[in-house]
Amino acid sequence: MTDKLYYSDSYLKSAEATVVAVENDGIILDRTVFYPEGGGQPGDKGTFGKWKIVDTRKNADGEPLHIIEGDKPGIGTKATLSLDWEHRYFYMTEHSAQHLVSALLFRHGVGTVAVHQGERFFTVETDKEDVSDDVLLSVEDEAGKAIRASLAITQREMSHKEAEELGMRRSIKVEGDVKVVFIESLDAVACGGVHLRSTGEIGEIQYCGSERIRSHIRTIWKCGDLSVQYRRRNKEIVSSLSALFSAEDEHIISAASRIVQENGELKHELKKAEKRIAAMELSVNDNDGSIPVIFRSSVPVASFDGIIVENDGKTVFIVDDYGHFMFHGTKEGFDILKAELPVKGGGRGNIYRGSVSGDVSSILGKAEVLLNGRSS
Ligand SMILES: [Zn+2]
Repeated sequence: MTDKLYYSDSYLKSAEATVVAVENDGIILDRTVFYPEGGGQPGDKGTFGKWKIVDTRKNADGEPLHIIEGDKPGIGTKATLSLDWEHRYFYMTEHSAQHLVSALLFRHGVGTVAVHQGERFFTVETDKEDVSDDVLLSVEDEAGKAIRASLAITQREMSHKEAEELGMRRSIKVEGDVKVVFIESLDAVACGGVHLRSTGEIGEIQYCGSERIRSHIRTIWKCGDLSVQYRRRNKEIVSSLSALFSAEDEHIISAASRIVQENGELKHELKKAEKRIAAMELSVNDNDGSIPVIFRSSVPVASFDGIIVENDGKTVFIVDDYGHFMFHGTKEGFDILKAELPVKGGGRGNIYRGSVSGDVSSILGKAEVLLNGRSS
């Protein structure tokens, strides 16, 4: 069994160790300061002498397996283990922040069913279908208070029975003796993970949103430097929008709403104008009543919807400036166009639509020959 030094002292950054077994992609040591992936927390990284440890996972027996990049040291090799402390401290901070959030949620009657610690945020999946923003923002406020109070985070190994008598918020998942982690005056929970010494080290915790997953609410949080960066980024977004809308921060939403509404009205007006242009273009090009009517339109062909009457027997082929066509006529007529011209699309009854590629004037010229040829 590996002596798991991180279990009792999560601030140990290095230790002398000896290889006791070599497995497929890694090594087992007689002692280690490397925490293996588990409980939603990634495994540690660092070095063992000249070797690079890229990850730490539990092997089949639950022992920390140090994943080595390249050739592995042989059994009996002694060297200094050294943690990538920045990596570890980041996840240790997120893990401790998660303890605090879960403890505070529990005080609002919300249990934790799963957690995940990521590079950008950590999540706490609750046992509830709904958790109000009031509760989540209260938890954020209370976490801030706990951080400012620098509550001690301590741990104590004890028998299963003794731990059970503490009446903790979460049932104990392992057999035998357990490590119970305490947040002063707030929480006690059995956990084999690595923790900070004080809530003060978390710096800050920010509630970032929630989502529904497996019929539960999963809450999203940021802590420490990530929380600071998130706050700054949001401030930048607000400043940019404020400049863009020429509005004070508190008026951005009303300015944006007004623009969205105006945009909707303008689009509606534009469609009406396009319809008027479409009607004029059709009447200009159809002034002698000749069949077929073939022309290029400056407005989208969709503007002719309702203007070209579906069953009036007329043959019309329009290509717009946006690379789209509309054909009104028989299926035979459309099949001829499709066989001879670079048009893609389809339709039913008398109306066919799609896209065109290539020179519009030449397409219209060819269509004229094809459709007139057919009608003569
Ligand atoms: Zn823990």
